[in-house]
Amino acid sequence: MSVTLPKELVFATGNAGKVAEVQSYFEPLGIRVRSLKELGVDIEVVEDRDSFAGNAEKKAREIFEHLGVNGNPLAVLADDSGLCVDALGGDPGIYSARYAGVSGGSKDAANNAKLLKELAGAGSRAAHFACALALVLPEQTEAVHTYGRCEGTILEGAGRGAGGFGYDPIFVPAGENRTMAELSKAEKLAISHRGDALRKLIAKLSH
Ligand code: IMP
Repeated sequence: MSVTLPKELVFATGNAGKVAEVQSYFEPLGIRVRSLKELGVDIEVVEDRDSFAGNAEKKAREIFEHLGVNGNPLAVLADDSGLCVDALGGDPGIYSARYAGVSGGSKDAANNAKLLKELAGAGSRAAHFACALALVLPEQTEAVHTYGRCEGTILEGAGRGAGGFGYDPIFVPAGENRTMAELSKAEKLAISHRGDALRKLIAKLSH
């Protein structure tokens, strides 16, 4: 598929940290990355597809259509990500954010505690983070998709580190002794599932 590089794109997330990550990849290429906040868009997209890629495309398309209807046809990028644990058959996967059924500020701690409990006594602690990106472009029916992974293992015992978010304190990337939450932002982005998916997207768009 031949793709014309957009001059600007909207990243469909409410997470300012993710916007900064995406900017760090696209802005050196002269592509401006705009946030939903900057555009005054406040839409809750229901993530009800059965794959990371399906949810990412749904998010990108709904925001794309909203902007188009309002006379602002911009390229829209969205991501969906999560943690997949081998011994749990790939769970929590697309349900990573709501694994323990808790919302709000204690969500991450509840998810991590549930995961450690489910894994107690398991033969394998292998896991990977996954990230699907979907880019919807004006005048192109098919979205551009990439998929990134970061391999690692789930820590035994309590989490470590204050950086990152979500499952980072209990995830040790392959080749590391530190947890993801003990890495700097730049170190995390260099090995993370999101970094992997972003580099693959840039490579796809540059051909
Ligand atoms: P979303 O793609 O932002 O909706 O992320 C879904 C969920 O996956 C988050 O709430 C986290 O629980 C988990 N997750 C995704 N990416 C990461 C990461 O980089 N570190 C830790 N947890 C993550």
